[in-house]
Amino acid sequence: MPNGFYKFNPKTLSYEKVKLGFKHIAKRMIWVVISSIAFALLFVWIAFYVIDSPKEKLLEKENNELKAQVEDLNTRIDLMSDVLLDIEDRDDNVYRTILEADPVPTSERYPLLMERPGSDSLSRSEASERLKEANKKADKLMVRLAAQTKSLEELEKLADKKSEMLSCIPAIRPLKNMYTVTSGFGRRYHPVLKTLRSHTGVDIAAPKGTPIYATADGVVSSENPGGGYGICVVISHGYSYKTLYAHMSKKAVRAGQRVKRGQLIGYVGTSGMATGSHLHYEVIKGDQRVNPVYYFYSDITPEEYNAILESSKKVNQSLS
Ligand SMILES: [Zn+2]
Repeated sequence: MPNGFYKFNPKTLSYEKVKLGFKHIAKRMIWVVISSIAFALLFVWIAFYVIDSPKEKLLEKENNELKAQVEDLNTRIDLMSDVLLDIEDRDDNVYRTILEADPVPTSERYPLLMERPGSDSLSRSEASERLKEANKKADKLMVRLAAQTKSLEELEKLADKKSEMLSCIPAIRPLKNMYTVTSGFGRRYHPVLKTLRSHTGVDIAAPKGTPIYATADGVVSSENPGGGYGICVVISHGYSYKTLYAHMSKKAVRAGQRVKRGQLIGYVGTSGMATGSHLHYEVIKGDQRVNPVYYFYSDITPEEYNAILESSKKVNQSLS
């Protein structure tokens, strides 16, 4: 470093070399050091806050990608939620209605959910807020899915029970060809006793030997009403239903035997108190005799049903 500099002298009109003292040199050096530090700080500030390093650029890119992915996740969860809402709606208003089950309680599908542990430790940046939102939605969806699965399992059991129940309710005609109902249910003139009596079933006139079929699944009962019923089969169907077939010429089943709807159980005859060849058929629900005509719905057309209903209303004498 030069230890002096030149200074203009207006008197001599020339530059003269001036010798510098140590103090002056030290002052200059301190100034150089301070300005260098200031420049260095400025450079660091620019590097940190203005110009992104390649690593920062990469992080920013990654952050943007994550934001987009979280956004996409939210959209897909919303879509799944809509689909589930539709299933829940059909479950409550169609399936559960058909199977006579109450709708799933709202508290089961939408319980108050606890905050996810550790969710507060996430920073409050926009992306993490959206991620938290997606997590909450996913939790709710999981609960709703679990409630829906439970509901469908319940309905499956109910449907099984229902079909078993339906096969146990009398639903077909006991004779294949629906011969005329010669005497209906209710008060009728008794042909043998010659009095007005309550007729507890329907009489269907048919030739002797016509096959008689079980009108629902069940077990042949050991009970035998005897007396005027003659050769008689009683079937217990469960669900408090029983059917009775009287005045047979011959039985085709024995007590304790399990029978299916439509299975042959005997033949039409005149046994017991009967004036002509016919089947006396009863449907018993609990302790009550009910009109069997109301249970002929499974294998006839509406026109046939109306015709049977009309013929069974006729006030005439029963064949017993
Ligand atoms: Zn009768």
